[in-house]
Amino acid sequence: MIRIGQAGIPLSCKGRTNKDGLVYTKQILDLNAMEVQFVRGLYIMEDEEAEFMAEYSKENDIELHVHAPYYINLGGSGEELNLSIEKVLSSARLAQKMGAKTVVTHPGYYGEDSEKKTMKKIIKNLKKIQNQFKKEKIKVKLGIETMGKKKVFGSLEEIIEISNNVKGVIPVIGLGHIHARTNGGLKKRENFEEVFQLVKNLRLKHYLLHVTGVLYEDGNEYYHIPIKKGDMPLMPLIDVILDNNYDVTFISESPLLEHDAVYIRLQVEKAIMKRTGKEEADYRDLSEIL
Ligand SMILES: [Zn+2]
Repeated sequence: MIRIGQAGIPLSCKGRTNKDGLVYTKQILDLNAMEVQFVRGLYIMEDEEAEFMAEYSKENDIELHVHAPYYINLGGSGEELNLSIEKVLSSARLAQKMGAKTVVTHPGYYGEDSEKKTMKKIIKNLKKIQNQFKKEKIKVKLGIETMGKKKVFGSLEEIIEISNNVKGVIPVIGLGHIHARTNGGLKKRENFEEVFQLVKNLRLKHYLLHVTGVLYEDGNEYYHIPIKKGDMPLMPLIDVILDNNYDVTFISESPLLEHDAVYIRLQVEKAIMKRTGKEEADYRDLSEIL
């Protein structure tokens, strides 16, 4: 199954609440996923809005994910760490209320510590968070995102190691970030195959993919840019997904948000048409190509 959506409220949606964004995603964009962004500080969502999100997404088959605030350092200590854990937990509680599948967070920074020590700290803190999830009966998966800058913790290998060590934690595959961090490493089919090969041991049934174009230099991301302006091609990725029948959700986190989500959709449908020889395709219907 393929799901496609954007990170946050669509740019072209006049209403600026998550509720507005969700309805727009269904009615105007005809997409089937959305990642709610709690990225500006600690986000408060009224129960009524969370309930609406849960009901509407369920009725209309839209998969929800949640992104916790950006500044989180699970490799830190003291007050910074406590705040980080609290941000993840409050995002997760809201994600649970909304019936979201994943709460996504950035892992943290190396700071003064070695990579090994940072890894240990982050694993320890994620276990703490998972214990709290258990206590509060939070069923949402905790997704840790790959990061696009070398000085920040979060290569694909590091995220996989964390996921191997903490139950309930899954990698969020930020393809733009991986591309930047590997200095343009995602160009050909075999490059994308390698990404899926690396996460294979985790036996994931579903992959949450973040997609954007990126401007980068020496393995460091500068900006997110529109997919078409970047140098990471979509087609080889889509081919790998269709050939292996991977269950994926594409979340566009490009500055064009929903415009690039719709672009992803068109590319997926083009790939389906190429396989069926027909002039029409729907990204939700893969029955003819499996
Ligand atoms: Zn992120």
